[in-house]
Amino acid sequence: MQRELGVPFDYGAEERLREAGVRATKQRRALIMFLATTHQPQTVQQILDGVQPRIDQATIYRMLQILRDAGLVRQIDFYRGNLLYELSDPMLDHHHVVCKRCSRVEDFVGCDYEKIAETALKQVRGFAAIDSHSFELFGVCKECAQ
Ligand SMILES: [Zn+2]
Ligand SMILES: [Zn+2]
Repeated sequence: MQRELGVPFDYGAEERLREAGVRATKQRRALIMFLATTHQPQTVQQILDGVQPRIDQATIYRMLQILRDAGLVRQIDFYRGNLLYELSDPMLDHHHVVCKRCSRVEDFVGCDYEKIAETALKQVRGFAAIDSHSFELFGVCKECAQ
């Protein structure tokens, strides 16, 4: 399943890591390249099975944390019991529409995050700023609806 929208991978993992201020180790490059080629958010198990050369689970978790802190990787929750990971796209904020029956995933853009954050900040008393967001939509795909 190809995504219509998504990360413009016109520069390499090494450059991405360096720009984010993270050392471009071989394992980190391998993880970035894997996420760049899968076109779908991946579970830790899928990452374990897919990254070449293989990396052990503890290292994968550590790397995901480092890459998340560096803003290179996003953690996504489709509320299926497994967290998913994908590359963040600094150029294009996108989110997902998920089929509740078959788990088909498609991307969409235009979540109007700034406006929602502004509305939220007017309502909450205890927050000085909002600096990130997580947003997924759930429904039934055309195939499952038939
Ligand atoms: Zn479906
Ligand atoms: Zn958004």
